[in-house]
Amino acid sequence: MSPEITRAALATKHGKESIFSPAFAEIGVVVTVAEIDTDQFGTFAGEIERQGSPRETAERKARAGLEALGLSIGLASEGSFGPHPSTPFLLADTEVVVYVDTELDYSVVEVARSISAVPPAKVIVDIADVDSLKFTNVFPEQRAIVVTEEPQSKSRTLLAKGIDNVDELRSTVAQALAAQPHTVIVEPDLRAHHCPDRRKVIGTAVDRLVQRLRVTCPECNAAGFGPVRTTPGLRCGLCGLPTSLPALDVMGCSRCGFETEIARTGEADPTFCDRCNP
Ligand SMILES: [Zn+2]
Ligand SMILES: [Zn+2]
Repeated sequence: MSPEITRAALATKHGKESIFSPAFAEIGVVVTVAEIDTDQFGTFAGEIERQGSPRETAERKARAGLEALGLSIGLASEGSFGPHPSTPFLLADTEVVVYVDTELDYSVVEVARSISAVPPAKVIVDIADVDSLKFTNVFPEQRAIVVTEEPQSKSRTLLAKGIDNVDELRSTVAQALAAQPHTVIVEPDLRAHHCPDRRKVIGTAVDRLVQRLRVTCPECNAAGFGPVRTTPGLRCGLCGLPTSLPALDVMGCSRCGFETEIARTGEADPTFCDRCNP
């Protein structure tokens, strides 16, 4: 990136500037919060459903933010929870962060994923169940929400969010139980400012984005040149046959599409070889 100061808009209403600002300061980017209602792009609690992929949503937020501040660079992140790709029985938090430059007309994206340590959602049948919830150990940093669900239609109503203490949780759940026959569910409040676990993963994604932006494309000079994929074929150390391990790192530019390949050094462990370890 150029040494002069660049300004970027960060679309957030959940305190993400504490994550973005220090990291972007390292590459001379001053982050200014764009006070836009990011909930309009979808919420974790489900009041508003997200349209499109997390990356598309992050881009829409970033564009709304830069437009609100009249800047050409916008930043945003979008999180999603789902089965971990390599261990599907574990819940993973995937955080996408995006850098949008409307002047050069391109965007740079990075992702971080981690197995989630956030307490899982729990259906509450009896008020006594509240005391056995894992949430009570992680209050007040990790907060909770209380949701009721219509048994037939599965339609959800958010009763309260940002709950940070057991007394409030207990009274909210008691009210909800009194208004049966809904199913009462206590869930983690996944908004970034109430979810330290997510903030860590967003931090990793932001660091990766900053690392990528440090490198400029050798072809068009845009910031954000970095690894885009690998090509398999690293040769077996014993017999020399190509294995499924990466032999090449492909570096690319999301603006002009220029790519270069960097060959990996070394040999593959024969454990990964189809001939030596069939
Ligand atoms: Zn380029
Ligand atoms: Zn081999």
